[in-house]
Amino acid sequence: MTNDKIWLSSPHMGELEQQYVNEAFATNWIAPLGPHVNGFEEDICHYTGAKYAAALSSGTSAIHLALILLGVKAGDEVICSSFTFSASANPIAYQGATPVFVDSEAETWNMDPVLLEEAIKDRIQLGKKPKAVILVHLYGIAAKMDEIMEICNRYEVPLIEDAAEALGSTYKGKALGTFGLMGVYSFNGNKIITTSGGGALVSDNQELVEKARFLATQARDNAPHYQHSHIGYNYRMSNVCAGIGRGQMQVLDERVQQRRDNFFFYEKLFNEFDGITMLSEPQDTFSNHWLSCMLIEPEKVGGIDSETLRLALAEDNIEARPLWKPMHLQPIFEQYPAYTNGTSEKLFEYGLCLPSGSNLTDTDRQRIETALLKVLQKRTQ
Ligand SMILES: *Cc1c(COP(=O)(O)O)cnc(C)c1O
Repeated sequence: MTNDKIWLSSPHMGELEQQYVNEAFATNWIAPLGPHVNGFEEDICHYTGAKYAAALSSGTSAIHLALILLGVKAGDEVICSSFTFSASANPIAYQGATPVFVDSEAETWNMDPVLLEEAIKDRIQLGKKPKAVILVHLYGIAAKMDEIMEICNRYEVPLIEDAAEALGSTYKGKALGTFGLMGVYSFNGNKIITTSGGGALVSDNQELVEKARFLATQARDNAPHYQHSHIGYNYRMSNVCAGIGRGQMQVLDERVQQRRDNFFFYEKLFNEFDGITMLSEPQDTFSNHWLSCMLIEPEKVGGIDSETLRLALAEDNIEARPLWKPMHLQPIFEQYPAYTNGTSEKLFEYGLCLPSGSNLTDTDRQRIETALLKVLQKRTQ
């Protein structure tokens, strides 16, 4: 008999989601607009402190619209974190623009400010000033915001924050996603809260968010007939999905605490192992610990590498996953300019994401601990 599967990160509904969805059915608001969409946008603003929010069909569509709003077009260059999920960079290609990848620093695993400045200076010298910077807060950990903001301001390059993994995280008390000109959240099924699929674009600039809503609903001009003077997109969030989101917003703080508890569990578990470190929140930041991530150095842990650990967990039907493979190493992106320092390549080699769902039970954690210790203790004795 095999045990039930323990997922890396699975949806976790609260009490009210179904009620909101029922309400959408009862009132026949089964469309990509309606009271839940407006209510969910208000909830996002209230929670993050952003002034305006547009609820969209995905985080990817939010990044795409952010680039369109900044006028990014074919031949332009856009700087992007290399250590991320491909959805951060794909919208650059949708616009026919060129991604310029920037590597990570070792503390937060996010974009290295030193390399960022080097990249901006170099591109300007080549006559191609970047149109935007897409900065990712990976795994819910804040990037070095003071440094990054200072550089973007000094060179006057607009910042888009990809906070798809970082809803609920803060830097010096301010929500991630609210530092840049625009911020992006994702509500995909594996994120800290979900609408089954969905995203949001936030900004303190009302005009940008209103324009995002306009473009996301097929860019229809103000006329009784269908009149168009812009290319439009079908990127709005459904009122049914927004109903799920409204319920999820009410349990978001609880979900953050549950994921942080997972992190503390792993931190304590690995405390005694010299060659294992966890990605932890830097000073002055608060992390939602969306995924608990570890690094394992085989030479210090009896030759056990991250893949051995992943397979040992898989044997007991427990899902773990390698860290993101850097974009500058991806076949589809490797021909683009990249400013690298070896950090993300090393992280990819030594890292592993551990089961991190807010719905993990004590029994689940016990199973994970047993499976991990079985392989770790066998080799280190
Ligand atoms: C999930 C994710 C996205 C994309 O969000 P979707 O809602 O799945 O389109 C973008 N960037 C990062 C870093 C993500 O983790």
